[in-house]
Amino acid sequence: MVKLDSKIPAGPIQDKWTNHKFNLKLVNPANKRKYTIIVVGAGLAGASAAATLAELGYNIKLFTYHDSSRRAHSIAAQGGINAAKNYQNDGDSVYRLFYDTVKGGDFRSREANVYRLAEVSNNIIDQCVAQGVPFARDYGGNLDNRSFGGAQVSRTFYAKGQTGQQLLLGAISALNRQIGAGKVEEKTRYELVDIVVVDGHARGVIVRNLVTGEISRHSAHAVVLATGGYANVYFLSTNAMNSNATAIWRAHKKGAFFANPCFTQIHPTCLPVHGENQSKRALMSESLRNDGRIWVSKTAGDKRHPNDIPENERDYYLERKYPSFGNLTPRDIASRSAKEVVDEGRGAGGGEAVYLDFKDAINRLGKDAIEEKYGNLFEIYETITGKNPYNEPMMIYPAPHYTMGGLWVDYNLMSTIPGLFVLGEANFSDHGANRLGASALMQGLADGYFVIPYTIGNYLAEHRDPLLDTDRNEFKEAENNIKDLISKLLSINGSRTVDEIHKELGQILWHKVGMAREEKTLKEAIKEISELREEFWKNVKVVGKADDLNQNLERAMRVVDYLELAELMAKDALNREESCGGHFRIEHQTEEGEAKRNDEEFAYTAAWEFDDIGKWNLHKEELTFENVKLSQRSYK
Ligand SMILES: Cc1cc2nc3c(=O)[nH]c(=O)nc-3n(C[C@H](O)[C@H](O)[C@H](O)COP(=O)(O)OP(=O)(O)OC[C@H]3O[C@@H](n4cnc5c(N)ncnc54)[C@H](O)[C@@H]3O)c2cc1C
Repeated sequence: MVKLDSKIPAGPIQDKWTNHKFNLKLVNPANKRKYTIIVVGAGLAGASAAATLAELGYNIKLFTYHDSSRRAHSIAAQGGINAAKNYQNDGDSVYRLFYDTVKGGDFRSREANVYRLAEVSNNIIDQCVAQGVPFARDYGGNLDNRSFGGAQVSRTFYAKGQTGQQLLLGAISALNRQIGAGKVEEKTRYELVDIVVVDGHARGVIVRNLVTGEISRHSAHAVVLATGGYANVYFLSTNAMNSNATAIWRAHKKGAFFANPCFTQIHPTCLPVHGENQSKRALMSESLRNDGRIWVSKTAGDKRHPNDIPENERDYYLERKYPSFGNLTPRDIASRSAKEVVDEGRGAGGGEAVYLDFKDAINRLGKDAIEEKYGNLFEIYETITGKNPYNEPMMIYPAPHYTMGGLWVDYNLMSTIPGLFVLGEANFSDHGANRLGASALMQGLADGYFVIPYTIGNYLAEHRDPLLDTDRNEFKEAENNIKDLISKLLSINGSRTVDEIHKELGQILWHKVGMAREEKTLKEAIKEISELREEFWKNVKVVGKADDLNQNLERAMRVVDYLELAELMAKDALNREESCGGHFRIEHQTEEGEAKRNDEEFAYTAAWEFDDIGKWNLHKEELTFENVKLSQRSYK
């Protein structure tokens, strides 16, 4: 039986990481050359890890299903990245960033990890500036900042609405240097389909070449997964179409515990659903809430054009309910509040949307200033909707966006499979039950540039065995299982498409494991998901061949995993008899309709061990709060 050991170092929170780094074992430079590390994923977490580990001297094999590392989903990040530089002199500090993040996550994250994150946040900015990342600067030439939800200081560094892209270009240039130096072997268009575990340790992977369909085996001393989040389980989300859960799910089935799967983030500022055949929800960055004001009509069913609704008939509901934070309340609160007014029938035009209005900001600052800050986001909005947000308010509504849950890792970012490390959005991370805006880029880069380079050495120093031969049974067996899975999928030849079933799964999750959850509907969801899984295996139609470029097969393999993961999300949500952050159980709310935590019974990370399909064992990592006082979150 695996016992959870978070390996949080002893001592005062400010000294934990410094002392830990000193106590970690080192691998000397000559020995580093003897190790091969497989990194899966080339987003911000994977690219930064691969480049840094190669720079240290390790041999890296990097796999990504994209045709170029530059296409990782991280490129889509718009708004910015947090750091506690306090350039604005507005009261920020490492401690405040730590505090805001623990509070923002509704006290369901690990204090020690969050403190380390805040501590290295400043190094990230220095590193990226040195790489030439063109962060926005103010008139005097200094780095500029803006505000994001859940904070009363301005600590978000940004590059217009393209922060992820610019950060990724920085990381990829470091990566390219190592590819050129022969330290990173980059394998694009390869999808990880299984982890190989030998004597309880991660010792390799099985991948599928997405162009030829060839399945191959790869051996390593350690495996790093940086494969992103699983919000696409909802079918409609703001994630890139290709983002998926396969890597972490297959690792889960090989022994890696899955933590807090029900902690999903529904982002408040996305374009509303506009039709039946939509495949994606577009994000409008949270940074827009710096200057945009959110409102709906005071009257239900008001179909007037927003410009015709007079000021005194508008309800700026976030400003009314949360005067201290106003439009910059954290995402979970802003999303739930939008749902509330829509449920009252007061949505924009009577539908599922609310207004995000820049009229006052344009009057105050001028159109040029708004264009300077948000120009490309306004362009995206106009291109998609055909409406000009300089002249009328945007229409927005929450959409699945980010997953705080993920593979459980200890302080060293190692999963419950020794030798398997998990970085970025793929781990259960530092965000508790709700991630604050601009903190994911910070966490991915912290993990890749500043944490894993230290912690992986500690593991490798004690595991010096030679690379394993891929002719071993464990490799052959893993490969054969994948070949069997593919043959089975191609042989069903039913009548329903993969997307049709995925869409149905997404609807179950959105309505029953979405912004509001309750016992009755969660139980229904569990039943419906397992029935849908049966239906998939009886009636799906996967066309094309195994040994060819076959996107239908790729999608089918991912939906196989979603159909299992979704059930665990619902079970986790059912188990957690409290409301916290993005997990809102209707039965557990305060008189004012806010999330009501149950710290006595649920101040733990739920880490699920896979037993069989539809069957898991729950392990609990108790969370202790020695530095931040547990309190009812208030943004009023
Ligand atoms: C539209 C949008 C805007 C956002 N804006 C912000 C923002 O402004 N600030 C912020 O902090 N956060 C933002 N986020 C969140 C943030 O972008 C992500 O959490 C973060 O980029 C994830 O980085 P990652 O490296 O963990 O994963 P990703 O960037 O998703 O990279 C995953 C990598 O893994 C590879 N991969 C995955 N599975 C496999 C497999 N089975 N085999 C091989 N390769 C695989 C992919 O090819 C890819 O290279 C935003 C998210 C979205 C959706």
